[in-house]
Amino acid sequence: MAAFPEPAGNLGELEGYHSPQVDVDVRLNTNESPYPPPREWVGELVAELERTQFHRYPDRAARALREALAELHGVRADQVFAANGSNEVLQTLFLTYGGPGRACAVFEPTYAMHSQIGHQTFTGVAVGQRAEDFTLDVTEVKRVLGDAQPSITFLCSPNNPTGRGEPRAVVEEVMRLAPGLMVVDEAYAQFSSWTALELVSDDVPLVVTRTYSKTWSMAGSRLGYLVGPASVVSELEKRVLPYHLDAVKQVAGRLALRHTAEMEERVAALVAERERLQGELAAMAVETWPSEANFVLFRPLDRTGDEVWQALVDRGVLVRNCSSWPRLGDCLRVTVGTRAEDDRFLAALREVLA
Ligand code: PMP
Repeated sequence: MAAFPEPAGNLGELEGYHSPQVDVDVRLNTNESPYPPPREWVGELVAELERTQFHRYPDRAARALREALAELHGVRADQVFAANGSNEVLQTLFLTYGGPGRACAVFEPTYAMHSQIGHQTFTGVAVGQRAEDFTLDVTEVKRVLGDAQPSITFLCSPNNPTGRGEPRAVVEEVMRLAPGLMVVDEAYAQFSSWTALELVSDDVPLVVTRTYSKTWSMAGSRLGYLVGPASVVSELEKRVLPYHLDAVKQVAGRLALRHTAEMEERVAALVAERERLQGELAAMAVETWPSEANFVLFRPLDRTGDEVWQALVDRGVLVRNCSSWPRLGDCLRVTVGTRAEDDRFLAALREVLA
């Protein structure tokens, strides 16, 4: 009998990026919105689905969705590329600008998928280290970019899992230093005070990635996009599979943008709740870092991260255990939930640390 072929590449050591899904009451581990989408959106979606021709392939270029996104951000539709979650946007960037003989640069600790997709696409991964307080150190950026000459340089702002946002001056400095395409992953930008979208133009090698999974309450739909130069978008379109965005998702994403005002109210409520959570954590035996996102990173002072994670699960509260991630020994990350969920988390943590 024929043998199974060896999978390409040596990814054996690479653990997939996933969060254990434990069946508990309070799930604050994957940075989703705690609120379901608006009721009116569901009605509008159902009405449009009644009219959808499901025996036909969807619009391959997702024109209506991209036009709606372009209007939202004040750009042109040919500057918008959409895919199945921003992770697929990132993967398509690697298929286009990464690959054997090329490198990307990341600055740890940061979003694990940037380096994971790098490895999966046989792109070299040059790893720089953030400073002790997780801010970006320009000397280190110069060293890494100078040595590796990456075709893709990643920043994540606000940064998952630390929560810090990059100041505009830092992003501009890295843009000056980056020899290739610069990617600013803005999965959490709506929770912060500025956006690198302001810096996008056709003649600058910068793309900004966004997701529907957080602020738009649509993690279940798997939809993300980027805004960048039209020349980059047209190259990405050549690499993505034909009809990769199904008809339902295209409609769902377009209709969501009619509810911007409600989305902004929810963001404001979550930001207020984040501040409350940070205030409460500051009074406990944990170290925390400032956050501009919908989550907070913290490190128990007298207990291991693993112990505290398990003790919270035992009390029905699931947070993300980052203890084994680079530079994050004993750290946990809690997503901002509803006030009631956050109260459950705070009470459980108080009890565990007592
Ligand atoms: N970028 C960052 C920084 C994230 O935290 C996430 C979600 N974990 C993503 C991208 C991926 O989001 P999605 O694929 O759901 O759009």
